[in-house]
Amino acid sequence: MTTHEDRTVYDCIILGTSPVCMMEAHYQCRMGQRVLMIDSAKEAGGAWRDVELFGFEEVEIGAHIMRHWRKGYRYIENVLGIPMTRMQPEPFWILPKYGPMPTRTPCAHVWNLVLFPALGRFFSRAGLQEVLRNPKQTVFVPLVISLMWFWRFVKVGAPRARYPMGGAPRFIRRLRALLNHDSVRILTETTALEICVQESAKLVHVRTDRATLQARRLCITSQSRLNHIRGESGVLNLTPISADTKHLHMLVEDKAERLFAFARFHQDEIFNMISDISDYATHFRREKPTCKLIAAWCSSEFQDSESHVMRAFIHAKANNLIGPEARLLDYKVSVYRSTELQEQDRIAIKRQFGEFVEILETENLTENIAHYFDRWTQAN
Ligand SMILES: Cc1cc2nc3c(=O)[nH]c(=O)nc-3n(C[C@H](O)[C@H](O)[C@H](O)COP(=O)(O)OP(=O)(O)OC[C@H]3O[C@@H](n4cnc5c(N)ncnc54)[C@H](O)[C@@H]3O)c2cc1C
Repeated sequence: MTTHEDRTVYDCIILGTSPVCMMEAHYQCRMGQRVLMIDSAKEAGGAWRDVELFGFEEVEIGAHIMRHWRKGYRYIENVLGIPMTRMQPEPFWILPKYGPMPTRTPCAHVWNLVLFPALGRFFSRAGLQEVLRNPKQTVFVPLVISLMWFWRFVKVGAPRARYPMGGAPRFIRRLRALLNHDSVRILTETTALEICVQESAKLVHVRTDRATLQARRLCITSQSRLNHIRGESGVLNLTPISADTKHLHMLVEDKAERLFAFARFHQDEIFNMISDISDYATHFRREKPTCKLIAAWCSSEFQDSESHVMRAFIHAKANNLIGPEARLLDYKVSVYRSTELQEQDRIAIKRQFGEFVEILETENLTENIAHYFDRWTQAN
């Protein structure tokens, strides 16, 4: 590994290459800024990058959904040029008492985002502590989102969930093409270790495992892996890992045709989200016409044991994600690493780094895309 100084001063360095980071880079370039992106992963895309699985390329790493947000859909169609397809059947959540509920039912969001998690939290001591520590994120933000959903429902009626044709791989490819066109530099396999602000020179130094890079501003995401912020000198340390999201991928033989299925489970601690991703794996349909790939999000206690896999498989059958005759052919567990910035981290960063470090909110992708649709309209 060589360590050297890169003397180029960028207007902005963006840490991470998720769709939000890419859209931000695209926007900044349009505004005449010189942008560099850094990612420790081999491929760009963050949680939306694809993987090779069971010998197939361009498989989504986990379950994805784009909640209904008209402007967000328009960004994908108008700016990226990707047609949106109806999610068919409509994605749904499974609620313990109420059974499956389509995501376009506004009260599903109320239950899902506000009442159900909040009530669950109040009944456990750990949950209550979490609420008291961070009431904004645990109660108020979900409440506001639910009210917005409800208002939209009243205004435009039941929205239909859509998804970009070709899924995450095509979505990321198109974003990359925009960035190539704008000559944004992307450094992959480069891990940022430390960020240091030099106030006198109005510069941010980003020390990575390959080089030290300089910029006038740095963008990190609200899901950055931050460790701690140190004293007056303005040094921000980035840790290698803080939390894992586990994904279970099942290869299932099943003759039943199903375009898109998506479910979110609350009552089962083992996995909480499951979707059929076979349509989005290139060549998959042609080479394995009777097979499906099912992705499930697993809790952190998930062990790579057969009984857990069987439970996920049985759930998929019970909820019609696969037909009654379906057979499990193979499975794999993969891990994605990320954590969210806590409110106190955000406050500390703002206080210590002010104008030098900007935090991009990345929790709700569709809402983010809508925001960039507005920016794109202004920039053109
Ligand atoms: C499998 C999965 C599915 C998801 N599906 C949805 C969905 O359907 N809808 C939705 O709205 N949201 C979804 N999310 C949430 C998702 O986190 C956001 O959509 C969005 O990708 C978050 O962007 P981010 O940049 O904060 O984090 P990430 O997408 O996690 O990207 C962070 C990137 O930064 C890199 N990185 C981290 N630390 C360093 C470092 N020190 N140096 C260099 N690089 C670093 C990582 O390698 C990673 O590529 C999903 C998340 C996962 C894991």
